[in-house]
Amino acid sequence: MSSRPRWHDGWWRPARACPSPNFGPRPPGTTVSLVLLHSISLPPGEYGGDGVERLFTNQLEFAAHPYYSGLRGLEVSAHFFIRRDGRTLQFVSCDDRAWHAGASSWRGRENCNDWSIGIELEGLEGGAFESVQYRQLAVLLRALAARYPIEEAVGHEDVALGRKADPGPGFDWAGLQRVLRRRRPRLPRAAPGRS
Ligand SMILES: [Zn+2]
Repeated sequence: MSSRPRWHDGWWRPARACPSPNFGPRPPGTTVSLVLLHSISLPPGEYGGDGVERLFTNQLEFAAHPYYSGLRGLEVSAHFFIRRDGRTLQFVSCDDRAWHAGASSWRGRENCNDWSIGIELEGLEGGAFESVQYRQLAVLLRALAARYPIEEAVGHEDVALGRKADPGPGFDWAGLQRVLRRRRPRLPRAAPGRS
C-alpha cells in the first residue's frame, strides 16, 4: 500500500477532479453515513460522451440533443460518476453537499443530500451495468468507508419512493453485497432495492 494520502479535502485522488459549482456546505455537525447510488447517461443510453460532465458543471449545450432542452435550468451534481469503463470522475468534495437526491428520506431522516455521498453510474435506468463498474464502485465504497462513517449504500429509488426509479432493477444489489462482503470489515452494507 502506498503511504500517499488518498484524500485531499474530501477529494479522492484516484478520481479525475472535475469541480462543479453546484454544491453547498453540509449542515454543521452532519454525520455522513449514507451512499446514494444513481444511474445517468446523456443522451440517455449513449455512453462515453461528455454530456454528464457538462450537465454537472452547467456547460451542457442544449442544442446538441433534443433531450437536453428538458434539462435547461437544472443545477445538479453528484460527488462521483463511474463510467462504463470504470473511469471515475469527482465533481464535489465529499466534505460538501452535492445536489443529487432532491426531496428524499431514508429511515425517517430527511434531506439525504445533507448527509449522503452521491455516486452516479453511467447507465440507463432499469438497465444493466458493467462488471468493471461494480469493481470500481467497491473500491470507492471501501475508500469512503475508511474516511466517513458510512453505514449503508442504497438507491435513489429507495429514498425518493414513487418519484425516482434509478438505478432500477438492472442494478445487481446481491452482486454488490458479495463484493462488499469479501472486503469486510470496513465496508458499508448495500441495502437491496425494493424488488
Ligand atoms: Zn438519481
